[in-house]
Amino acid sequence: MQDLTLMTGLYSAGLALIAVILFLIWSRRGSQVKTQICARCGRVAQHGYSTQAESRLEDIQPLCTNCLVSKLDKEYQTYSGKALVVQPAEGYPCYVFHSTSDWSSAFPNASTSPDVESCLGAMGINCENCGATAQYFWVPSKGLTASAIEGFLEHGASSSFLQRGPNTASVCAKCCVSNISKTLDSLEVQYLEVCAPRGASNGFVVPMGY
Ligand SMILES: [Zn+2]
Ligand SMILES: [Zn+2]
Repeated sequence: MQDLTLMTGLYSAGLALIAVILFLIWSRRGSQVKTQICARCGRVAQHGYSTQAESRLEDIQPLCTNCLVSKLDKEYQTYSGKALVVQPAEGYPCYVFHSTSDWSSAFPNASTSPDVESCLGAMGINCENCGATAQYFWVPSKGLTASAIEGFLEHGASSSFLQRGPNTASVCAKCCVSNISKTLDSLEVQYLEVCAPRGASNGFVVPMGY
């Protein structure tokens, strides 16, 4: 009888121990998926911001859409090159800038950079929206597919969605960021990494994975 009481006691202690371990695992998981807070204003952060594509996780700052847009506004105006900008789209983790020179060095056989340069060379001088100096070639992302992005990154613009169509536009920095901002407000998208054009080399901004 004493043995039975001892066994029951041990069994209960074992169950309690398992419950404690399960609780610890659950609470650790809970802390890992907790909501990210905007590093600038303390509200809920929807996006990660970095200064260059493929940054390390610790160099990506969580920001809310408002704070991200105000950073992009400053950086799109500071940038001194020209860039092709594809409208943000759902279904891609990143929305980042690559310079045509870096892309050519990394993928010498891709015709992406020469194609982007020729698009930028054919751009209008003035913003089609406000008349200021045009610096960005805006490409709507309606109907954009992952294979179109892949095609663009490998074979360039001529065979892809970037051919000049009725909805592309030459725009200034302010109008470009205003277009990005309106799209971010209307989509359910949360980008893990967003970075703006930087430096003086021409380039492109596209929604993409790595
Ligand atoms: Zn914020
Ligand atoms: Zn404008």
